[in-house]
Amino acid sequence: MTFPSWLSQLCRGLSRPIRRTTQPIWGSLYRSLVQSSQRRNPEFSSFAVRTNTCGELRSSHLGQEVTLCGWIQYRRQNTFLVLRDFHGLVQVVIPQDESAASVRKILCEAPVESVVQVSGTVISRPAGQENPKMPTGEIEIKVKTAELLNACKKLPFEIKDFMKKTEALRLQYRYLDLRSFQMQYNLRLRSQMVMKMREYLCNLHGFVDIETPTLFKRTPGGAKEFLVPSREPGKFYSLPQSPQQFKQLLMVGGLDRYFQVARCYRDEGSRPDRQPEFTQIDIEMSFVDQTGIQSLIEGLLQYSWPNDKDPVVVPFPTVTFTEALATYGTDKPDTRFGMKIIDISDVFRNTEIGFLQDALSKPHGTVKAICIPEGAKYLKRKDIESIRKFAADHFNQEILPVFLNANRNWNSPVASFIMESQRLELMRLMDTQEEDVVLLTAGEHNKACSLLGKLRLECADLLETRGMVLRDPTLFSFLWVVDFPLFLPKEENPRELESAHHPFTAPHPSDIHLLYTEPKKARSQHYDLVLNGNEIGGGSIRIHNAELQRYILATLLKEDVKMLSHLLQALDYGAPPHGGIALGLDRLICLVTGSPSIRDVIAFPKSFRGHDLMSNAPDSIPSEELKPYHIRVSWPTDSKAERAH
Ligand code: ASP
Repeated sequence: MTFPSWLSQLCRGLSRPIRRTTQPIWGSLYRSLVQSSQRRNPEFSSFAVRTNTCGELRSSHLGQEVTLCGWIQYRRQNTFLVLRDFHGLVQVVIPQDESAASVRKILCEAPVESVVQVSGTVISRPAGQENPKMPTGEIEIKVKTAELLNACKKLPFEIKDFMKKTEALRLQYRYLDLRSFQMQYNLRLRSQMVMKMREYLCNLHGFVDIETPTLFKRTPGGAKEFLVPSREPGKFYSLPQSPQQFKQLLMVGGLDRYFQVARCYRDEGSRPDRQPEFTQIDIEMSFVDQTGIQSLIEGLLQYSWPNDKDPVVVPFPTVTFTEALATYGTDKPDTRFGMKIIDISDVFRNTEIGFLQDALSKPHGTVKAICIPEGAKYLKRKDIESIRKFAADHFNQEILPVFLNANRNWNSPVASFIMESQRLELMRLMDTQEEDVVLLTAGEHNKACSLLGKLRLECADLLETRGMVLRDPTLFSFLWVVDFPLFLPKEENPRELESAHHPFTAPHPSDIHLLYTEPKKARSQHYDLVLNGNEIGGGSIRIHNAELQRYILATLLKEDVKMLSHLLQALDYGAPPHGGIALGLDRLICLVTGSPSIRDVIAFPKSFRGHDLMSNAPDSIPSEELKPYHIRVSWPTDSKAERAH
C-alpha cells in the first residue's frame, strides 16, 4: 500500500490544523483512487475530444498519437509546458522549429491556468531527463497542434496546494479552489464511497433508494428548521432537518428497506463542524432490532471503505452511555488512546485536603483522576496553570496535579498532604510510571467526569504538539454508544423533559414501566456511532405503537400532537416494527480524508456564519418580490447599512 505523504500528514485528526508544506505529487491521487475502487478503471476519455488524460500516459504509450486537454500548470523557459488535469501532470515539449511558429506562440503566450488542447506523439524523455517523482516522468509529448481553448486572467491565488490562502478567499473563488489536488481527491473519494454504499445497500441487501420531500411542514422538538414562505398568507413550509417522518411512513407503506443520500437542513447558527445544509446516508428498515442495524452499518462501512486505508475491523466495540461518561467524560469518546477516568474516591476517604474532604462528605461526592503519560516530561508549569484555570472558569472545579516523582509538585502546595500510602495506592490504581502526572478533581460524578473528559482531550493535543505520538494517524477507531437515556432535562427548563435523540425513539424493552413512574430513568433503544471521538451516526428502534407514541408526545414531552396526527394515524394502520439510522456523510468523509474541516469535503460549502461567499447568499429581496408571499421585512434599527446593501 502506498500512502501519499501529503495525505498521511492530513490524517492527524479533525481538531488540529494541518500544515501543507510539501507539494503533492500529481498521480498519487489517481493511484489512491484507483486502489479505492474495486472495479476496473473507468473510461475517463469516452465521449470527449481528448484521447487520454494527462496523468495516464506511460512508456507503454510510446509512439501513440494523443490529444490532451488540460490547464497549464507551469512553463519552463519556453521549452516545456506542464499540463494538468484531475488525473495528473504531463510534460509537453514546445516545438522550436520555424514551421511550428504558430503552435509555439500559443503555448508560449497562454498564461498559466489557461485551458489548452494539444495533439502530438508520446515520446520518451532524453536519457537522464526522466523525473521519477512524476508518474508520467518517463515520457513527454511532442506537439503537432495546439489550441487555446480559453485564456486565464490574473488569478486571485495560485492553484498549488502548498500555497497558503485564507479560507475566505478559497470559498470566494471556490471554482478555482476545486482545481486543487486536495479538493479533487476529497470529492472523488466521496463519490466513490457513496457509490459503494449504494451498491452494498441496493444490490447486496435489497434497499430501495427513495427521495423524500424537502418542502415539508414544521415538526415539534429537535433542531431549528429553516422556513420557506408560501403564497398562502401566513403559511410556511419548513426544510426538514432529516427525512425521519417520511422514512417511518415508508415502512408503514411496505417499502421495508429504504435508503437515501439525503440533504438535511438545520438552522442552528455557526458551529465549527456543522453546515446549515448537510448530507446524511439515511436508512430505515422493518422487522429489525438494534443489533441488526449495527451489523448492517458495520458491513456498509467495511464494504465502502477505501482500499488504500487499513481495513475496517468488525464488529465495532460497544459501550453504554453511562460507561462512556464515566470512563471518557463524553458520549463520543476518542478511543484511540487511554488516559481513562478512574474513580479514586476510596484512596482519599481519610484525606486532609480540604476540597477532597468537602466533596466526599456530600452524598454523590467522588474523587476522579486521569493519568497524563510522561506528563512531567512534556507538560510545562504554565500548562498546569492553564488547566487549573480552565477547570475553575468553566466548571468551577479544582484540579490537583500530582507528580509521581515526589520532588516535582509544582504550584500545588496541597499536594504535600498526600500521604505516601495514598501516592502508592494511586500509582497502583492508575497504573502509572515515574514521569506521569495525575490530574485529580473532586465533586459530583457527572461534573467531575465531564471536566476530566475535556482535559483528557486537551492534554492529548498538548502532548502531541510537544512531540509524543499518542494517536496513530492511520487508525480509525469506531465505537457504538448504546443505552442512552430516553429523555434529558430541557436546557431552558430542567423540570421538563426533551428527547435525547428524537421523540420517535422506542424505550428500552426493560424500562417501559419506568415511562409511567420515573421517565427520567428510562433508557432508550438509541445508538450512536462514534469515530475517533466524533459522532458520525445515530439512530434508534422506533415506537410503532400509536398509543405509546401519543403518550410520550403529549404527556411526557408536552408536544402538540395535532402537528403529528398524520404519523400517529399511520401507526394505527398496521405499522410494522422498524428502526433506522443516519450517517453524517460530510463528517465521515472529512475523517476518512483527514481534512481539517467538513467544508473541505463539500463542493460548495457555507462559511462559518452560514454564508455562501462566492454568490453572497443569503441575499436581500426587493420588497416588491416579497409581496406575493405576504411578507414585509421588519428591519432592526441598527441595520441601515445592511438595508442599503
Ligand atoms: N433522523 C435521525 C437524525 O437525523 C437519525 C435516525 O434516527 O435515523 O439524527
